[in-house]
Amino acid sequence: MLKDKVVLVTGGANGMGEAHCRLLAERGAVVVVADVNQRGEDVVADIARDGGIARFRPLDVRDRRQWQAVVDATVREFERIDGLVNNAGILVRQPAEELTVEDWDLLFDINVKGTFLGSQAVLPAMKKAGSGSIVNISSISGLVANMPGMSAYCATKGAIRLFTKGLAVDYAAYNIRVNSLHPGTIRTPMTADFERDSEKLNLLLGTTILRRLGEPREISEVLAFLLSDASSFMTGSEVTADGGFTAV
Ligand code: NAD
Repeated sequence: MLKDKVVLVTGGANGMGEAHCRLLAERGAVVVVADVNQRGEDVVADIARDGGIARFRPLDVRDRRQWQAVVDATVREFERIDGLVNNAGILVRQPAEELTVEDWDLLFDINVKGTFLGSQAVLPAMKKAGSGSIVNISSISGLVANMPGMSAYCATKGAIRLFTKGLAVDYAAYNIRVNSLHPGTIRTPMTADFERDSEKLNLLLGTTILRRLGEPREISEVLAFLLSDASSFMTGSEVTADGGFTAV
C-alpha cells in the first residue's frame, strides 16, 4: 500500500513519530525523519538495518528556511514527496491564569505554525506530482477538553483540526488529500508523567472505554491507511483512534 511512497514525518525521532517512521518503512515507504532531536539518526540506522530506506534531516518545524532545505533535499534525492505527517508537537499543561505568554506562543509556534509551514513547503511538489496525502496530528484535545490544564494545548489542536479542513478544500482540485488524526492518550515520553500519577491516569482511563492507554503503533496503523491510496475518498476528515474516549 505504501511501497516506494516518499513520506516525511516531523518529530520522527521519538514517541509516536518514531513508531510511525518504523511502521511506514516496514510497509515499503521511503521515510524522511525530520526532528530537532539527533536521535533521529538512530531511528534511521535501525530502519536501514532492517532493510528499509530512511534519511534523517534536522528540522525545527518553526523555521521556514529549514523546511525549504528539507523539502529541497528530499525532492533532489527522491524526486517527489507523496506524504507529509505533521506530527511534531509539544504539551504544556497549565490553567490559563498560570500559563505564560511565552508558553502560549511556543505551543502555537510548534503545534500550529509548524503544521502550516510544513504543509506550505510540500504543496508545490505534491501539486507537480498531481497527488499527495497530508496527515496532521491533532488529538482528542482537538475535539474535547479531556483533562484539566489543557486549554492552550486544546486551542492548538483545535486549530489543527480546522486548518486541515480548510487545506482540504483548497487543494482537493490537485488531488491532494488532507486529514487530521486524533489519538487518545498514547504511551510516549510526552505522557510518561501521566503514568506516574495515578489520579491523572484514573481520570483518563475512567472515560477510555477500552480501559488502557494506546500504544504508538496502534496510531501508526491508522496513519498508514490515511497515507495510502486505500483512503482515496477521504479528505477533510477527522479520524479518532482513542480507545473510545470521545464515544461517551
Ligand atoms: P513526544 O514528546 O514523545 O515526541 C515529540 C517529538 O517531536 C520529539 O521527537 C521532539 O524532538 C519533536 N519536536 C518537538 N519540537 C519540535 C520542533 N520544534 N521541531 C521538530 N521536532 C520537534 O510526543 P508524542 O507523544 O509522540 O506526540 C506526537 C504528536 O502526537 C504530538 O503532536 C502530540 O501533540 C500528539 N498527541 C500525543 C498524544 C499522546 O498521548 N502522547 C495524544 C494525542 C496527540
